[in-house]
Amino acid sequence: SLSGKTVIVTGSNSGIGLGIAREMARAGADVVLNSFTDSDEDHALAEEIAKEFGTDARYIKADMSKGDECRSLIEQAGRCDVLINNAGIQHVAPIDEFPADKWDAIIAINLTSAFHTTAAALPMMRKAGWGRVVNIASAHGLTASPYKSAYIAAKHGIVGLTKTVALETAREPITANAICPGYVLTPIVEKQIPDQMKTHGMSREEVIENVMLSRQPSKEFATVEQMGGTAVFLCSDAAAQITGTTISVDGGWTAL
Ligand code: NAD
Repeated sequence: SLSGKTVIVTGSNSGIGLGIAREMARAGADVVLNSFTDSDEDHALAEEIAKEFGTDARYIKADMSKGDECRSLIEQAGRCDVLINNAGIQHVAPIDEFPADKWDAIIAINLTSAFHTTAAALPMMRKAGWGRVVNIASAHGLTASPYKSAYIAAKHGIVGLTKTVALETAREPITANAICPGYVLTPIVEKQIPDQMKTHGMSREEVIENVMLSRQPSKEFATVEQMGGTAVFLCSDAAAQITGTTISVDGGWTAL
């Protein structure tokens, strides 16, 4: 059980982050939800988790594109036994048309944020004598696809960061790993469908079947609950010697 542990999940008012926070709470952890907004709905998500699982749940606003806010998220939480770096955005365009501001935002949110949160969280883990860093990379952290240069660079980058954190904590009861999801039907994926329809001149169904799931041999989307379950496993004693590696949850994508 993760009872007594505090889990911070960046970018968790939706999609995979919210799914992971829910599975962590189900396993008994106190959770900190985060995004860059500060709405009643954001705080209500935390209240629902607290009510459903009987754990402590809070929502803390912090913009993961800003280094000081990444660090202050961890400081405000006050404790961090498990850090889930999940916040991420996507933009799809050929590299010669790729807007430079989108490149910068993707590198900041999908990669640099994890540098800042990890730097702030490791001293807390060391003080507590236990810790887990789980970075949400992607099948695109291990392979590439056209038109996603910034995302793929950031995701390969976070796999490298994961390995480095694992080596720097190797002699301590702290591990760092990356989960590499294949396609999960969340808002970030839903938003890509119109762009992909335009780029490929395809219908919604054709994009799902022939583009998104073309490299996912299971022909099924992975689920946010499966990402949460994998993250909970990485926090278990069975996973204590799993560090510096990636776990693919991708329906066979990276076996191709
Ligand atoms: P999503 O759009 O539902 O969730 C992204 C989360 O990040 C949201 O909670 C959003 O509020 C938050 N976020 C965005 N910008 C932020 C910022 N500046 N500061 C703080 N939070 C911010 O998408 P998702 O599919 O749940 O993606 C979550 C992670 O999983 C991302 O890192 C994504 O790259 C990764 N991933 C997703 C898939 C997939 O198929 N859905 C596959 C592989 C990897």
